[in-house]
Amino acid sequence: MSATEYIHDVLAHIRECSPGQEEFYQAAEEVFASLVPLLEEEKKYQDASLLERIIIPERTIIFRVVWTDDSGKIRTNLGYRVQFNSTLGPYKGGLRFHPSVNLGIIKFLGFEQIFKNALTGLNIGGAKGGSNFDPKGKSDNEIMRFCQAYMNELYRHIGQTHDVPAGDIGVGAREIGYLYGQYKKLTGRFEGVVTGKGVAWGGSLGRKEATGYGSVYFAEQILNHYGDEIKGKTCTVSGAGNVAIHTIEKLKSMGAVPVSCSDSKGTIHHPDGIDVKTLKAIKEVGHESLEAYAKLHPDATYIPLHNYPEGGHAVWTIPCDIAFPSATQNELTLVDAKQLVANGCKLVNEGANMPTTPEAIAYLREHGVWFGPAKAANAGGVAVSQLEMAQNASMQHWSFAEVDTRLYGIMKNIFETATTTAEAFGRPGDLVMGANIAGFQRVADAMIDYGAV
Ligand code: NAP
Repeated sequence: MSATEYIHDVLAHIRECSPGQEEFYQAAEEVFASLVPLLEEEKKYQDASLLERIIIPERTIIFRVVWTDDSGKIRTNLGYRVQFNSTLGPYKGGLRFHPSVNLGIIKFLGFEQIFKNALTGLNIGGAKGGSNFDPKGKSDNEIMRFCQAYMNELYRHIGQTHDVPAGDIGVGAREIGYLYGQYKKLTGRFEGVVTGKGVAWGGSLGRKEATGYGSVYFAEQILNHYGDEIKGKTCTVSGAGNVAIHTIEKLKSMGAVPVSCSDSKGTIHHPDGIDVKTLKAIKEVGHESLEAYAKLHPDATYIPLHNYPEGGHAVWTIPCDIAFPSATQNELTLVDAKQLVANGCKLVNEGANMPTTPEAIAYLREHGVWFGPAKAANAGGVAVSQLEMAQNASMQHWSFAEVDTRLYGIMKNIFETATTTAEAFGRPGDLVMGANIAGFQRVADAMIDYGAV
């Protein structure tokens, strides 16, 4: 059977046996499409039924989370942990608390995480988890009670050498604190079972900055490769959470001008550059809408959702040299890609997971826009999570500079691996293909070494 037929059959089977998981199919199709030249060259993967095996999670845990709101009403949510692949090490991947969470979303994120983690060159497997709990509008006590209820079930499935969750959308430092506090209460153990912990209680310096800083380091590698640099570039960034804030912070420190940020209600355009202090005060401390930003900076414009272009996002209508989608999946569409090309954008660098739709990626490629794919560009977060695990296991505490230097080295290595792999398969500059093949090969070869398990 040809590689294309093999891939088609596996994908058709997956659609049949796991219905209604659109985001998961999208992620699987993207990875598998990139593997065609590898599978044509190396028959061993098909002989070992690798695609049929890698597409199915090792374990899927779905559970009920019952908690009580401030009015005394009993509330129920769904909790998930998909332990996708532990070939290269303990399951590793964040927890997402957002009303849109369902099994398909968690599987797409967990599947991507396998290859991202492999690309870092570190020994970590792939997983993802979360809940359809909506943290918006909840009091601090309600967030705490929900996190405790979620951990009351999750604790029995995780462990420092088995499965080590971290944060994602809706799960930041506060939630990690409540989750870890409850784990410690239930087990009596102080250990590296989650990452993104507070620095006073086992966290790593540089973890909260890692995904955003790493994304900028990756973009810089791409620019340097083509004889360009990040300094002086006008950049648009979407999102106003952990990834976006630290992308903006690093861009400013490297002499670029990040002119935007966005949240689920609207977009800020600030031509002189986003004020990081204001952004942190609004989002990290106040947990408010970005509308407050324009009130504090009258030279900035606030564009509410109802003024977005049809089928697109206001943030991508702002002229830029580099676009950093850093909010959520499928937030940069074909409409947006056309606008970015028309405005002369040179590079799209994915801070979020799968933020660019397949049609938008194809259009950007056809028009010569450089592209940094998520599983390479945003791998800095999980890489520093692994550095946090290493510090916990050896009871050490590294300086910010040491962590940041290692992060820079890891991002440079990922870029080089993806670049040389793309070249080896006859597609120079195609970092989507380079990252997918390099990540897949590392996991798949180890799975073959282990035999049929
Ligand atoms: P976060 O701190 O919760 O921030 C998410 C931001 O995106 C918020 O500003 C949120 O708006 C906005 N957003 C979320 N869903 C949205 C939607 N459906 N439409 C419009 N805006 C939306 O999350 P994060 O940690 O920065 O994660 C952002 C992305 O990066 C995700 O794709 C995540 O998987 C990926 N990622 C994160 C890490 C990490 O270390 N945190 C690592 C790798 C990849 P509101 O403020 O209105 O809620």
